[in-house]
Order: sequence, then structure tokens, then C-alpha cells
Amino acid sequence: MQNTIDRLVKKNRKWVKKGHVATYIPELAKQDPGLLGISISELGCDQWNAGDWQVPFTLQSIAKVPAFICALQDNTLEVLTRKISVAPTANGFNSIENLETRNEQKPLNPMINSGAIAAISMVSGASLEEKFQRIFHMIKKMAGNTNLKINQAVYCSEKQTGDRNRSLAYYMKSTGIIDIDVEELLDVYFRLCSIEVNCQDVAKMAGVLAGDGNFSPDGSPLFDTQTAKIAKAVMATCGMYDGSGDFAVEVGLPGKSGVGGGIMAVVPKKMGIGVLGPALDIKGNSLAGWKLLQDLSLELGLSIF
Ligand code: GLN
Repeated sequence: MQNTIDRLVKKNRKWVKKGHVATYIPELAKQDPGLLGISISELGCDQWNAGDWQVPFTLQSIAKVPAFICALQDNTLEVLTRKISVAPTANGFNSIENLETRNEQKPLNPMINSGAIAAISMVSGASLEEKFQRIFHMIKKMAGNTNLKINQAVYCSEKQTGDRNRSLAYYMKSTGIIDIDVEELLDVYFRLCSIEVNCQDVAKMAGVLAGDGNFSPDGSPLFDTQTAKIAKAVMATCGMYDGSGDFAVEVGLPGKSGVGGGIMAVVPKKMGIGVLGPALDIKGNSLAGWKLLQDLSLELGLSIF
């Protein structure tokens, strides 16, 4: 395994030149586009790392998965889907058009910005701070890392420039999808997106999903099999936004990307994978990270299909 991932990181590093770091959040523009790293967390404890796996990056949209898991734990699927569908999108992750013209004004799924913001609003907690702490706790448990912190520079940068997310949230408030304070809700969303991790943290998070929520890195169960099944299904169909169909064909794993360059991929019953490659394709997915996963999936026969 070590030789394989060392070789595949080396082979796929050329792809970093084809992508671009996110610039719409100014702090993310400072990332090194040349990075490429991977960690694999095999069920049963083996851990493999290669390339720039130790370099910290922010979770960004990968945080949508633990937020959705918490929302699923706190609501029945029936209640949740009254506000957020689980349908794939053919538009970008921050599309406004979708909200206004499609699907009775419900966000299409919880893996795009509108759906994640709505999902956070449905997580239990008497205050927005409690909702944040509940999801942050889930992330730390999944990663087996109590030291995770918010990258303050990225958080401030997102908060200052997050007007598209404000538009989505105010629109959802006007249509009754959201019924709480928009600024406070977005503050939680921005903080979750700004949590700093490395590839190993993300691989362990994915590993919990690979084990159907039954084992967190400290050995305790975290969520039930049904929750894991729904989260993996939504990742497989929606996790790479409008690139999800291509990812299913080329990689064949439930995955979730973030504009910080991370991808979390789940090999059910076998392993969790975290990759980093901040140079993104036009849909906001790590370009070299995707290619690396594609090769790995092909070589090890990992596709679930
Ligand atoms: N924080 C980012 C945003 O709201 C997350 C988007 C992403 O990772 N695709 O735009």
C-alpha cells in the first residue's frame, strides 16, 4: 500500500498545474496549488500516508457531511426532507437559480451550500452556539482529534465575503425553509467550513462512515447504520456537486469535496480516504486529488458499482 500511494502521488502531481486555488474566499487564494497528499485509514487500524498529507487545510464543504449526520440524528428523514431534498444537482454548489426555480424552493440536497445551511438550522440546540458545538463535537469524534481548531483567518475571510451564502440564506428565510436568525446561522456555517484538518483527520472521518458509524477512532459507536447508509448515498449522488456523476463513474466511491482542496472518500467496510490538492477544477473539486483517487480506485478495485 505504501509503495502504491507514494507512486500514485508522484504520478498525479502533474495535474496540480491544470487547476486553480479558490479565490472567492481571499484567504484560500494563499494556498499552495502544488500540494498533493493522501491518507488512508483502514478499518482495523492500519494508517497510510503519502505526499503532503500533513499540511493543514480547511474542511470547507466536507463539514457538510457531519452537519447532515447530526441533522439526521436529530430529525426523522421524513421531517428533514420536508425542508431539504436528496436530489442531485446540475448546477454549482452555490447556485441561487436552483432555489428559486426548482424543487418547490427547497434546497436540492444537503451537500450544496443552501442545503447545508438549512441542515445546520435543523440540528438540535437551544442556541446557535449549541448547534455549532454539537457538530464540532461530531467532527472531532469522527477524526479522533480533540485538538481541531478553527482557522481564524479563513473564518474572517469567509464571513467578510460570504454574500452569496447570505443571499441563499435570506432567500430560504423568506420561503420558510429557515426560521432562525440568518447572520447567526451563517456564523455557524462559516466556522464549520473553517475547521482546520489534515488528510489523516479526513481519512479517519471517512473511516467512521466506512464502518457504518459503529466505530469511531476511540472505539465508541457514533451513529447508527441507517444514518451512515443515508449519508453515503447522498455523498455518492451529490457530494461532488454537478461533478457527482463523473466521480461515480471515474472513482466509484461516496465522496465529498471542499474548496480548501480536500476530498473525503469512503470505501464501505474497508477504508476511509482523505486527499488534499488545493488546485481545483471549474466545479470546485480538487483536480489532482480526483485523479489520484481515480487511479487508486482502479488499481485496488475499490469502486462500489
Ligand atoms: N465555505 C465555502 C462556501 O460557502 C464552502 C463551499 C465548498 O467547499 N464548496 O462557499
